[in-house]
Amino acid sequence: MKYFVLDRGDEISVELSELFHRLAAENGLELDEKSPDIVVSIGGDGTMLHAFHTFIDQIPSIAFVGIHTGHLGFYADWKADEIPELIHMMSNQAKGETIEPRVVQYPLIHLEICKRSGNSSYICLNEFTLKGVDGTVVAQVDINDQMFEMFRGDGICVSTPSGSTAYNKSLGGAMLHPSIEALQVTEIASINNRVFRTLGSPLVLPKHHRCDIYSRKEQNLLLTIDHVNLPMDDLISVSCQVAERKISFVRYRPFPFWTRVRNAFLD
Ligand code: NAD
Repeated sequence: MKYFVLDRGDEISVELSELFHRLAAENGLELDEKSPDIVVSIGGDGTMLHAFHTFIDQIPSIAFVGIHTGHLGFYADWKADEIPELIHMMSNQAKGETIEPRVVQYPLIHLEICKRSGNSSYICLNEFTLKGVDGTVVAQVDINDQMFEMFRGDGICVSTPSGSTAYNKSLGGAMLHPSIEALQVTEIASINNRVFRTLGSPLVLPKHHRCDIYSRKEQNLLLTIDHVNLPMDDLISVSCQVAERKISFVRYRPFPFWTRVRNAFLD
């Protein structure tokens, strides 16, 4: 089995990374930074976002595992002191001495960004946001080629089901179980009065439905794709849809979504 480790870069994560490599070599796992079977992120949820974007071109052939160095993350279920156990399970899997672990797949969002200076496409694990830098954003929101609303406010967030517990939650969006292939559109401080009107509620769109956001004035915008910031002053439109590709997480033991939600927000 070929593996790669991406750590957060702080002292603890780097030390754990070194420990991981040492134990992995002792257990016959092969380090491969070009085409690993498993990518292990050591740090927090942000490190998993980073790992995801680093291997974005190989998503169909990679399974991810997360080790957290602080509190339990949404993408990181292994504790630092459980690294020997994790390596043992990976090594047993490689030798075929155990039943294949469960692999869960989570939906992603595909974006087509159209600018006056050219087009580009992106994939998000958590969410895409469009925000104003120096004033109110004016944007037309279309759903499946039909004009839906003219948005005025701070911005718009489009999240995946696994990202629904992140920024989307802070915006009052619903939490979606990642087995649901959908995307969620939430407003960031929309202006609503007798002149301007938006729906004011989060929207959940199923797979194959499309949400297009058109910039409706010359404006300095900040587009975010997970942890990545893209300042933009020539945006024409962004088209958002549930992606064909999914991310895979290898589960050597159960990590139920609702348990994570309860542990993170209630316990
Ligand atoms: P960061 O360090 O500011 O992390 C923000 C927090 O989001 C961390 O506590 C992290 O554990 C948590 N988080 C990330 N993904 C999550 C998920 N899927 N479910 C629940 N919590 C999650 O920034 P970062 O590490 O670069 O992460 C970028 C993410 O931060 C973005 O994808 C966005 O979701 C989140 N964010 C949240 C807010 C907000 O809630 N107001 C604002 C900006 C960004």
